[in-house]
Amino acid sequence: MPAVAAWEPLAEALGAVRRIVVFSGAGISTESGIPDFRSPGGVWTRYNPRDFTFAKYVASAAVRQRAWRMRREFWGAEPRPNPAHLAVARLEAAGRCRGVVTQNIDGLHQAAGSVRVVELHGTSREVICIGQRPRVGTPAGCGFRAPYTWAFARIDEGHDDPTCPDCAGIVKSATVSFGQNLFPGVLQQAVELIGEADLVLAVGSSLQVYPAADVPAAAVRGGATLAIVNDEPTPLDDLATVVVRGRAAGVLSAAVEATLTPAT
Ligand code: NAD
Repeated sequence: MPAVAAWEPLAEALGAVRRIVVFSGAGISTESGIPDFRSPGGVWTRYNPRDFTFAKYVASAAVRQRAWRMRREFWGAEPRPNPAHLAVARLEAAGRCRGVVTQNIDGLHQAAGSVRVVELHGTSREVICIGQRPRVGTPAGCGFRAPYTWAFARIDEGHDDPTCPDCAGIVKSATVSFGQNLFPGVLQQAVELIGEADLVLAVGSSLQVYPAADVPAAAVRGGATLAIVNDEPTPLDDLATVVVRGRAAGVLSAAVEATLTPAT
């Protein structure tokens, strides 16, 4: 008897439902060359996440300069969507997926063609004004927003701590840093999108970062089934009907291809 490929139970589960919502984490982008928090040699072995709290960013020009250097490194590698992002976009285009809730800040789902994407932790593709002295983890800017290239151009002109052109406030990538509150309304959007799911497909997330990790757990409490694709165990594995231990690009592209190809 031929061996069953690891992705086959996933293809079966995806084929049995109409309303999939994808919940993705840093692991879906590692095969695009963007390290997650745990990868050896990853960005977080060279930059200490504790140095980038919201409070320290507000308080210190040196921290902001280091943060811009890190962003440059991130975008300098010119990350592109990998087959996992493309498979997710294919599911949505085929009318089988309602959208994506992502913890990622890299914009690769949209670059792959996904349309409905809720970014729980914001986006590093843009920068925003957070005001001159924002407090208690909440940006309080004037509304200025620009592509990240705006900040890099200011830095190249010699402004190593670029400030808002409209109000001279602090400029920061439009991401949620440690010690920063989620942007208003985002968690609600995620809960609403997840609430449409009859199956939540969690991909490349350790499912340990809260409140984000509670989003798929809430879907299960609401009656959805859960499928998990991750290369290590997660705390929600026991809640899932399908767990595929493997690399996201190979698993998702094979499972989605099988799901969308009519049987002959
Ligand atoms: P995480 O780093 O906590 O977990 C990633 C998980 O993915 C790990 O369990 C890892 O074993 C697994 N993994 C790595 N590569 C994989 C692959 N190719 N296939 C399958 N599994 C793979 O990430 P998280 O759960 O997203 O939470 C951490 C936080 O890190 C999030 O808040 C996110 O905003 C932030 N982050 C984002 C990016 C990004 O935007 N690409 C990168 C690093 C960190």
